[in-house]
Amino acid sequence: MPPHTGPWDFLTDVPLVAFGPGIIRSRGEIERLARMVDLAPTAAEVIGFDGWPQRAGRVLDEALVPNAPTPRLVVTLVWDGGGDNTLEAHPKSWPYLARLMNRGTSWLEMTIGSTPSNTPPIHATLGTGAWPSSHGIVGVKHRAEDGEFVDPYVDVDPANLETTTLADLYDPSESNVPEIALVGVTPWHLGMIGHGATAAGGDADVALLLDDAGQSWGNAALYEIPVVEGGAALEQKATALDAADGKQDREWAGHPVDETDVLYSSPAFVAFQQQVIEDHIVEKDLGVDEVPDLLYVNMKQPDDAGHKWGATSSEVGAVLRSTDDALRRLVRFLNTIVGPERWVLFLTADHGQMLYPHQSGGYAIGGTKLANDVNTRFDKTDDGLPLVERVTAQGAYVDFDQLKTNDVALAQVARWLVDYTVRRNLNGDPPPDHLLGREDELLFDGILIRGRKAVLNC
Ligand SMILES: [Zn+2]
Repeated sequence: MPPHTGPWDFLTDVPLVAFGPGIIRSRGEIERLARMVDLAPTAAEVIGFDGWPQRAGRVLDEALVPNAPTPRLVVTLVWDGGGDNTLEAHPKSWPYLARLMNRGTSWLEMTIGSTPSNTPPIHATLGTGAWPSSHGIVGVKHRAEDGEFVDPYVDVDPANLETTTLADLYDPSESNVPEIALVGVTPWHLGMIGHGATAAGGDADVALLLDDAGQSWGNAALYEIPVVEGGAALEQKATALDAADGKQDREWAGHPVDETDVLYSSPAFVAFQQQVIEDHIVEKDLGVDEVPDLLYVNMKQPDDAGHKWGATSSEVGAVLRSTDDALRRLVRFLNTIVGPERWVLFLTADHGQMLYPHQSGGYAIGGTKLANDVNTRFDKTDDGLPLVERVTAQGAYVDFDQLKTNDVALAQVARWLVDYTVRRNLNGDPPPDHLLGREDELLFDGILIRGRKAVLNC
């Protein structure tokens, strides 16, 4: 599937469910606005942490039972790529989530609240209760001071996360007695827990990242990394998945389960990760003592399957179903191990999924061609430095010195771009079939300049 980064509501509308009998009200679906910045202050309120600074988010107190007991464990679970449009494409794949939406409180107007709609910024927003313009994680890559485009968590280092998370502040306030843990698969998920040992007064929180072989990895200088081997446990889930269709042919949905990247995007990995989560809760006694612990989980497989097989594919439906099964298991597990009325769960997603252009009728803009066209038009200096350095789904990176050298204002570039057409971007190539006859359509409704001023196409 094409990148799920874009200005459309269907990428930013996501579920938010709070569940925790005795602590969270059972209001069912409510027509209230919630945003990703609201999760940190709400979790702070739930655990009774009074050191939370005023930031962008609000406490979602419409869901909280007044004078409720303090939970021993707060679990925040992100279904990666499990936004509303993904769920709507597979309405039968998440019966248990639907049940929790009714039994807890579910916000119908939940939005991630910022663009780009991709994994690193949104997880950082969840952890910090601040917007990307404050917390500094703005995309899957960003322009570093030396001009290079790099992963914001290069070397599994959270230094680019410029704001403290709830865990960064809460853990030291309780002398690092709370257990703070992340279970995910990429450093992009670190924004949920924060800076680990580099937080002021902090300690090495658990960052349990799993690679595609099911082994834990990460930055042991800043985080505690429990050993997980994958191996036999993952193989057991692969065997079960293979057998689930009644044939032991080492295939799932026509894909070889022995291929690492197939297995990684399949229900087998979901089941494996759920086992890892349960083992970790037991191992670390999460939710055992009265000091609230914080567990953050990212289930990456819905997103990964979407990228591989498409948002509306039966594979994504199957992966969602397994993620829903894992949710059911998790709730039962928490009731058994931590005990009823002693834990709270927040479930959300970081973005929706993009359809293929032939499904949506859209056009995937060629970024390199677009950058070249702008440079041909506006960059008249012969210094080997482009005016537009790079165009990605999250926007165009402009060299401000080059603007000056060429005596060009951003608004001029924007005004030129609002007339930019499919034909121009095609570079002489024929359009895809679904765009035949539409070559002269404009590609932009409007251009935002530094996220504020807009040049609109109307
Ligand atoms: Zn994501």
